[in-house]
Amino acid sequence: MDQIIIENLQVYAYHGVYREENEKGQNFYINAVMETDTRNSGTLDDLDLSTNYGEVCTFMNNYITGHIYKLIETVAERTAEAVLLRFPLIRQITLEVRKPEAPIALPFESVSVRITRGWRRVYLSCGSNMGDRKAHLDGAVEALRADERCRVIRVSDWIETKPYGGVEQDDFLNGAIALETLYTPEGLLEKLHGIEYLHDRERKVHWGPRTLDLDILLYEDCVMCTEDLTIPHVDMHNRCFVLEPLVQIAPYERHPLSGQAIRQMYEKVIRDKKE
Ligand code: ATP
Ligand code: CA
Ligand code: CA
Repeated sequence: MDQIIIENLQVYAYHGVYREENEKGQNFYINAVMETDTRNSGTLDDLDLSTNYGEVCTFMNNYITGHIYKLIETVAERTAEAVLLRFPLIRQITLEVRKPEAPIALPFESVSVRITRGWRRVYLSCGSNMGDRKAHLDGAVEALRADERCRVIRVSDWIETKPYGGVEQDDFLNGAIALETLYTPEGLLEKLHGIEYLHDRERKVHWGPRTLDLDILLYEDCVMCTEDLTIPHVDMHNRCFVLEPLVQIAPYERHPLSGQAIRQMYEKVIRDKKE
């Protein structure tokens, strides 16, 4: 990806753990590497198609002087997110906050924090088999659209499916959603649980009836397994009701462990079903 680079933007600000730092202030220096596609703006020589680095500098200066934090970690974290939200063409930013006048009683040149943050591609599955199923699924998409840390990219059709897992219950309406998000996997799961909760989701029977179920299928090429979260979703390759809507919006996306495309996985579950 192309990059726009800002080096050593000087900002006089008041961040620090000590009172003196908050009162007197000091110089901070900002380095930013912003990933963006400059081909269109570069080819057509049109600033409207690019991100104006002058505006980014002014924005970062205003943001960093407009807040007071104890840690440069926090300055970096908040500023990176604010830039990503304000300048939609920036896909990822590596931001370094340097503090060469930090109160350290030894000779040193500089201390800094450098972080990389960006929009991450995610696929979700959604399902409902209680109440107004379509309204629950539409409501989930709406709730995601209303969150500035999520951009809904594509939504599949809502597809009628038979229940899975042996519990006697009503048919489901299932779908898949492609997102870009600033949330971490854990943060996104919490967000999804919040949306389920707003739709009166209760967990009584495992794989039982539900107003709304939102699962993370893929999160970039991330592979993780904690007590609360397994990515890719551990059973996605076996589930027709997951793959049928997903193949509509992401046929060529690949499972990071098996390397199989969604379309291949979908064709396999269909074959297995017939046998
Ligand atoms: P399944 O995960 O087999 O589809 P389910 O969706 O019915 O089952 P839930 O009761 O909705 O299961 O979720 C149980 C827990 O699964 C969640 O609280 C969450 O911590 C955990 N979990 C693990 N991996 C994921 C994931 N990829 N997406 C969503 N939840 C996950
Ligand atoms: Ca599920
Ligand atoms: Ca779930």
